[in-house]
Amino acid sequence: MRVLVTGGAGYIGSHTVLQLQAAGHEVVIADDFSNSKPSIVKRLVALSDEPVTVYTVDLTDELATERVFAEEQIDAVIHFAGFKAVGESVAEPLAYYRNNLDTAFSVLNAMNQHGVRTFVFSSSATVYGENAVRERTEDMPTSATNPYGWTKVMIEQVLRDLAAADDSWRIAILRYFNPVGAHASGEIGEDPSGKPNNLMPFVAQVAVGRREKLSVFGDDYDTPDGTGVRDYIHVEDLAAGHLAALEKVTASDDALSVWNLGSGHASSVLEVVASFARASGRDVPYEVLPRRAGDLPAYWADPSKANAELGWRATRTIDDMCEDTWRWQSKNPNGFPDVDE
Ligand code: UDP
Repeated sequence: MRVLVTGGAGYIGSHTVLQLQAAGHEVVIADDFSNSKPSIVKRLVALSDEPVTVYTVDLTDELATERVFAEEQIDAVIHFAGFKAVGESVAEPLAYYRNNLDTAFSVLNAMNQHGVRTFVFSSSATVYGENAVRERTEDMPTSATNPYGWTKVMIEQVLRDLAAADDSWRIAILRYFNPVGAHASGEIGEDPSGKPNNLMPFVAQVAVGRREKLSVFGDDYDTPDGTGVRDYIHVEDLAAGHLAALEKVTASDDALSVWNLGSGHASSVLEVVASFARASGRDVPYEVLPRRAGDLPAYWADPSKANAELGWRATRTIDDMCEDTWRWQSKNPNGFPDVDE
């Protein structure tokens, strides 16, 4: 297939691009590089030894988006592009709603116009809202606690309505738990701009000496060690889940399917810190601060639906995730270069 990967220069997108190519697919990337650096493209080409077509395009622009479909013979779309910082979404709701919704609408409209019907969507475990039980299954009701989460809930609803209106669509909604880790080469990985919001990149930057210490947000939760518990999934396992979902929906009779992509294992903040210290051989100093607003104590995936239906499972452990994150972080202490090497 010739697959359009929106946000293909981003963290999860870039790892998925390499796996798509390794599986024999051709890739077209559409990215505005608002939260990624163009230098990643050279790394991708070096790793895959294959050319990749890149459109630098703002996907909220319907005409520009449509042009990509007019110029390329696209068979399927994996839609990663979107804003993803929870705190920023609370401060700038209009920017989040506009960007994430408009991007989805332009891509779906262009697909409609060009008869492309296969769509894999990056959703999030955040759609289970704050009242769900800790182990999450796909049949639970959805809601959100911040604008970022609501954009995911809303786009999921748009996709359900679309599939109900026209059963020729082949849509996969993938609900990610906590993606971490990096490509085994250490050449690509997560490169947040500014101060990281998420745990793993923050820990990695402390270990490499870019930041003094980690703030642990709360140690008085109802969890085994009092710190927050999450289901961390290696980005390579997550990327493999996209391939499995793409192959499944193209052979499926169902217009829409939903799968949790998680490991089913839960780790606390302090377990991640300890694993990272082992992987890096460095100290990870931390201080305990009050809870972060909006954080839940603990949740993880029940991945059994994806395991059974996709023949896929997450295989990498938290130690693997920390080792690969460390390889990426220590080889690239400042992330991707600003200009091509
Ligand atoms: N966390 C932390 N310090 C940080 C960032 C995160 O203690 O600097 C905790 C957070 O409270 C949560 C876990 O680490 O329990 C995972 O947070 P992250 O932001 O990575 O993902 P989330 O699950 O919130 O989407």
